[in-house]
Amino acid sequence: MDVITKVKEMQTRVLSIKDRKESIGFVPTMGALHEGHVSLIRSARNENDELIVSIYLNPTQFDNKDDFDNYPHQLDKDIEIVERENADVVFAPDTEEIYPEGFCTYVTQGKLIDSLCGRLRPGHFNGVTTIVTKLFNIIRPDRAYFGQKDFQQSIVIKKLVADLNMNIDIKVLPTVRDEDGLALSSRNKRLNPEERHSALCIYGSLLKAKSMFASNIKDSKEIIEEMTSIIKKAKHTRIDYISIVNAHTLEDVSSINGKAVAAVAVWIGNTRLIDNLILE
Ligand code: AMP
Repeated sequence: MDVITKVKEMQTRVLSIKDRKESIGFVPTMGALHEGHVSLIRSARNENDELIVSIYLNPTQFDNKDDFDNYPHQLDKDIEIVERENADVVFAPDTEEIYPEGFCTYVTQGKLIDSLCGRLRPGHFNGVTTIVTKLFNIIRPDRAYFGQKDFQQSIVIKKLVADLNMNIDIKVLPTVRDEDGLALSSRNKRLNPEERHSALCIYGSLLKAKSMFASNIKDSKEIIEEMTSIIKKAKHTRIDYISIVNAHTLEDVSSINGKAVAAVAVWIGNTRLIDNLILE
């Protein structure tokens, strides 16, 4: 496996893959890899000739300096993990490579970022659409792999690819959880044991939504009230949002009729976690 840090070198490598008419699977990550990332990497490995994993902590998608400064780093360990999964290339550029002096072109998105994390994290998704577009242009994948854990991100990227006519198949894979249900996240590493315990309220609230929906309760307000009370009961929690949205438009729904998503963002101490479950 090769570790490539320069854009030009990555592009040259991609050209040689394209010359051989091999397919490229791509998994973009911000590092601090866990089993959630590994599940994307394994699918990509199975479905493509060449597998490229990027590890890049993208500053333009952070709306909170503390979050960026405290984001876990473990590049050497990450490279070992990716190598163990038989990737062909790790692309790990630094910020001068990605945003050289004078960089001033951004990809922005409308509507889909008016709700959920987009509403509460100004600029976040424009950072995401910009870095993903850049990485797609450099790596030119046939297939790119994302997690349902970041549900809004997966919808935003599908729309990006459709609107800008990128010929890339976007695969969205299920959320990988710890045994007790907490969705794996690089940010979980920042929780102390008490906070780690409190964080279980997030999945607990989503399971409550699922069971209410299964017993034919479709009123979003009623479900959200129950979810709120579960999260408020746990220690160290502060709710950013608890929403039930249409799974395609991401607009709030008052009553669940078609495919909907219950989505939650909660601060546990100083760490903001998100999770979601599809209700259909
Ligand atoms: P990140 O490194 O957090 O930017 O995540 C890189 C990719 O891994 C994104 O597509 C995430 O949605 C995905 N991902 C993160 N956590 C999980 C998880 N617990 N299960 C599945 N995919 C995940």
